[in-house]
This record gives sequence, structure tokens and C-alpha cells, in this order.
Amino acid sequence: MTIGKMARGAIAGFAALGAVATATTAVADNEANDLMNATLWTQTSVEFKASSMAAFKLAEVMLDRALADKDWTAALEQGDNYQGKPPAVILDVDETVLDNSEYEAWLIKAKSHYSSKTWLPYINDAISNPIPGSKEFINYAKSKGVEIFYLSNRKAPGEEGTRKNLKKFGYPINEKFDTVLLRGEREEWGSAKGTRRAHVAKDFRVVMLLGDNMGDFVDARKANLAEREEILEKYKNNWSSKWIMIANPMYGSWEGASFDYKWRSSDEEKRQMKMDAMRYWKPKM
Ligand SMILES: [Mg+2]
Repeated sequence: MTIGKMARGAIAGFAALGAVATATTAVADNEANDLMNATLWTQTSVEFKASSMAAFKLAEVMLDRALADKDWTAALEQGDNYQGKPPAVILDVDETVLDNSEYEAWLIKAKSHYSSKTWLPYINDAISNPIPGSKEFINYAKSKGVEIFYLSNRKAPGEEGTRKNLKKFGYPINEKFDTVLLRGEREEWGSAKGTRRAHVAKDFRVVMLLGDNMGDFVDARKANLAEREEILEKYKNNWSSKWIMIANPMYGSWEGASFDYKWRSSDEEKRQMKMDAMRYWKPKM
């Protein structure tokens, strides 16, 4: 046994003793919840912080390339004759710029699920922390004369809280025109983000997209797991150059795809569909 394994065993032993001592009060409040490890990782791990910092550092390198190449565009909605337009980057907000893990942690503790009834008050509290590396990248882009657009599926009534939260941490927001583009601000701005990317692309060369979800890059609503793999392959030259993905293990279209977007199924049914979506080792013994 290695020292590392011994240490882990000893720590587990002490933890078990502690658990026994408090078992009567702890058990009822600590029901298993599929959201817990992902939220813990996002909120507390240096592994998450280092990975998001790496993604944003890569974005800086790629931004330099993008600015040097007038033919470079990151938006599928860009259209023709864009080479002379001023450059812009489009960032998603939730789990790309702002860390909402405290909301997710509250969902676990309250044994609740995402709902717009609790999400809007959370937005209005404006307490989300920066995703590590995001501010440094945005400031770098701004220093290079790149316009910053925040394109979020937060709904229009959450705009004031969103702006307040971004400003609290010094994220630059150009107030000369709308650069915080939320869902439903215009009739055609639905949850698919393509119409809003097209809106930015009318006046700007979109040099980079940053997000935590496939929909932040390409409209692929209701794509199943196999179709998502095809999209990954189809745009393989865009990922990690024009399109920078931030890890979000807490929620996203990846989860919906695993149960065919049957969000109204019971927790048990969704859990079974997730189990069925995985591949398994078949031990030969
Ligand atoms: Mg997001």
C-alpha cells in the first residue's frame, strides 16, 4: 500500500467515526443528490479553477490570431463582407462569466429543482462570483479594442440584476448600445442563440465565442447524443480555437440529451434514462 492510499484510508476512517457520532441528525439532511459532486467540484476544487483559467488563457492566444487574420470569424451566422467590420467577442454569462454554484448548492440543500420562481430572485441578489480567468480574458480583449457582448438565456426581466452582478466585479459593459443580450428582449430572441449572434454579426466581425453549452456556439436544440457527437466532429476546427468551452458538470444540454429532453419525467425516470445512456464494462469473471 502506498503512503497516499494509507492516508486516504485513515482519513476515511476518521470521517466514518465522525459520521457515526452525528448520524442521527445528518442522515435526514444529506440525502443523495445527483447534483452534489458536480457542484462541489465547481465551487471548491482548484481543478475546476485551473481548467477554466487554462481555457481563458487559450482564448487570449487565439484572439491574437483572430485579430491578425481579417478572414477569421467564429459565428456561423456571420454572412458576407465582414472583413472590415470591428471585432467582437460573444460570451455566455452563466457558468462562463458568472459562477452560480451557490444557487445549485441551495437547490441541493432545499431539495428543490431549477425554477424561474427562484432563479429570478437569485439573479437579482447579484451574488454570483467570477468564473476564474474570465475577467482577465475580457480585459485583455477590451485592451485590444475588441467589443464585448454578453449573450445569455437569462430572461429579459433579469437584465438589471445581471448588469449589477457584472459591474460588481468590474466586468466592462459598453453602455453606448445594448451589449447585454437576454432571452426575450426581442420577440425573435428565443432560447436558441443564433438570432442574437446574427444581430451582433450585422455590425461586427465575431472573432470568438465562449460558453459552457453547445447552444452557445451552434443552434442544436433537442439534438440527441449521437447528433451532438456529429456536431462536435463537424466543427472540429472551431473547438479550442474560435470556440472556447468552459466545463460545466452541473447542468446543460448534455444532461437533457441523455434523457431525450423529457424534463417532465420523474427524478427516478430521468435517473434510469441516464443509467441507460452510459456504456458499461463487462468484466470477464
Ligand atoms: Mg451558460
